[in-house]
Amino acid sequence: MYLLPLQVLDMAEGGLDVVVVGSCMTDLVSQAPRLPKAGETIHGHKFFIGFGGKGANQCVQAARLGAKTAMLCKVGKDFFGDNYIQNFKNNGVSTEFVGQTDKAATGAASIIVNDAGENAIVIVAGANMLLGAEELQRAWPALGGTKVLVCQLEISPDTSLQALRMARERQVKTIFNPAPAIPDLHPDFYKASDVFCCNEPEAELLTGVAVGTVEDAGKVGAELLRRGCGSVIVTLGPQGCVVVSSQDPSPRHVPTAPVTAVDTTGAGDSFIGALAFYMARYPTMPLEEMARRANQVAAVSVQAVGTQTSYPSRKDLPQELF
Ligand code: ATP
Repeated sequence: MYLLPLQVLDMAEGGLDVVVVGSCMTDLVSQAPRLPKAGETIHGHKFFIGFGGKGANQCVQAARLGAKTAMLCKVGKDFFGDNYIQNFKNNGVSTEFVGQTDKAATGAASIIVNDAGENAIVIVAGANMLLGAEELQRAWPALGGTKVLVCQLEISPDTSLQALRMARERQVKTIFNPAPAIPDLHPDFYKASDVFCCNEPEAELLTGVAVGTVEDAGKVGAELLRRGCGSVIVTLGPQGCVVVSSQDPSPRHVPTAPVTAVDTTGAGDSFIGALAFYMARYPTMPLEEMARRANQVAAVSVQAVGTQTSYPSRKDLPQELF
């Protein structure tokens, strides 16, 4: 007889709200007066390490709002991997399905920002690309009680698609965020998405429709519904987002209140993490209302510097959002 590991049973019984299958990246950020030329060494004035990666960002935002979350990902058997696991623990994210490998380093983004705010970035996905079928199979029993599964494209697209398919087989609701976008997205991604959530450039790359206005976003939504998505949300930065769904395909603009943005990095991930929280905790709430609340969470994130450091917790937000 096959016995499930105890933690798996624990999680399946209580039911996880949100499982994110995706990436972890350590951001190594140097601020310097200018970007160095090839072969040149220059002095910078500040260095900091940040926790990033679209998958991890979304998971941490959902957890900070109070969702019972688990991250399914792979990091290296190195300092950055250990550090990232501790970051998940600090945020209350289950690390039961965080694998560590000695075959690649933890994903890292080396970022140089100059005084004009321009940057040069090298991303090495590393261990993220080694997340595959084996890890998904191991997590399979826990998916039984899960309410929402979230995927992006910073890991192997095959792994993301397999995770979405597995979730659908288990009646777990899916959110797919096609980021970073790839031109020839497998058609099954659309069919496996209960909610397909993209930003303007991703929408354009996938559909060929340049998105500048609410009307453009509505056109993109209609096209993505035609490809098989259950619902589509196109995020529009300070304009909020547009929601369309197969039950009511007329596009609905969900505006957001104006705020003074200081750093919009990771706003899209904050929005998606919040959306996952609402889908898991308020399954009968209209998608438009979830999007309105996710707008408010993401608006808080743009008013502080950093990615995960700018994400609000439940206690930082008005009670009417819960
Ligand atoms: P990023 O790549 O920076 O993480 P994104 O391009 O994926 O972001 P956006 O469409 O820019 O995503 O923003 C996502 C959500 O964040 C928006 O739908 C909105 O709710 C919120 N948001 C972003 N920018 C602003 C802003 N300037 N003011 C208020 N809300 C914002």
